[in-house]
Amino acid sequence: EPQSDAFAGGPLDLPGWRHVYSGKVRDLYEPDLPVLGGAHPLGDVVLVVASDRISAFDHVLDPGIPDKGVVLTQLSLWWFDQLADVVDNHVVSTEASAEPGDGLVPDVVAGRAMICRRLEMFPVECVARGYLTGSGLAEYRTNGQVTGIPLPAGLVDGSRLPEPIFTPATKAEVGEHDENVTFAEVARQVGGEAAARLRDLTLAVYARAEEIARERGVILADTKLEFGVDPATGATVLGDEVLTPDSSRFWPADRWEPGRSQPSFDKQDVRDWLTSPGSGWDRSSDTPPPALPDDVVRRTQDRYLEAYERLTGTALT
Ligand code: ATP
Ligand code: MG
Repeated sequence: EPQSDAFAGGPLDLPGWRHVYSGKVRDLYEPDLPVLGGAHPLGDVVLVVASDRISAFDHVLDPGIPDKGVVLTQLSLWWFDQLADVVDNHVVSTEASAEPGDGLVPDVVAGRAMICRRLEMFPVECVARGYLTGSGLAEYRTNGQVTGIPLPAGLVDGSRLPEPIFTPATKAEVGEHDENVTFAEVARQVGGEAAARLRDLTLAVYARAEEIARERGVILADTKLEFGVDPATGATVLGDEVLTPDSSRFWPADRWEPGRSQPSFDKQDVRDWLTSPGSGWDRSSDTPPPALPDDVVRRTQDRYLEAYERLTGTALT
């Protein structure tokens, strides 16, 4: 059985860990360490495991993309490091287990898992945009604004914005669509002070990451971050994954040409195939999308690896 299948399905049986939650891509586990009296040596932690699942148009697709979860985790870890002086992050350890049930990362998920501080997540998708496309472009075309922020007239798909903007969205349940909301709505939900903190941190992360990507010939068009509060300290901490092709639009800078959709290092091939006549799928129907053809899977795997290599400057071994 190909290895990819093992990581494209639901949660795994992991010694020392109990499954608590699955999102579209990641599975979360909490310590299950009865011999240690239930306490984890590293404190109140969760194991965040990135699967090989891929989602598009709010559906989890079949099959998975081999090693995608490893790419997401390794790229996130690289970015957390690059951003260390901009924002605190949730990573505690990626150390592999010496023996089953010791509370470290089980061998079977080594490379795709991180032991993280358990955070109380804000129910907000913190989006920064430096360029106009996707749901931002769609909203701009209706009212010249994105989440209540007025933009100059005449912008097109892929236009660079006068300055990066914070365009939050509500976090949707699995299968539901995230919805863009105004800053005022976020402030109503989490309080004005927290909302301002989320906005400032998001824009600071975007500014640093955009600069780093640009040096490597990559445009960071937009990105989505998730923050939480560390209950032990009250600090606002960057959680989840960061600056991966799942959460961000990365465009090769030498091919940027406003006025059309940009080539990108992400699941564009998957979206293009699903919406092509060849897939036979009607996006507006209730039927789940058909299985991805092998060549789309392979090309998507290559795109994820290429993103990792372009950004970090190293091959993923
Ligand atoms: P999507 O990211 O595609 O919108 P999703 O958020 O439902 O989907 P995943 O990213 O697959 O799902 O799952 C990760 C889940 O883990 C998210 O709900 C995220 O908020 C949560 N999470 C991430 N880091 C932590 C943490 N340190 N403590 C607690 N929960 C966390
Ligand atoms: Mg997520």
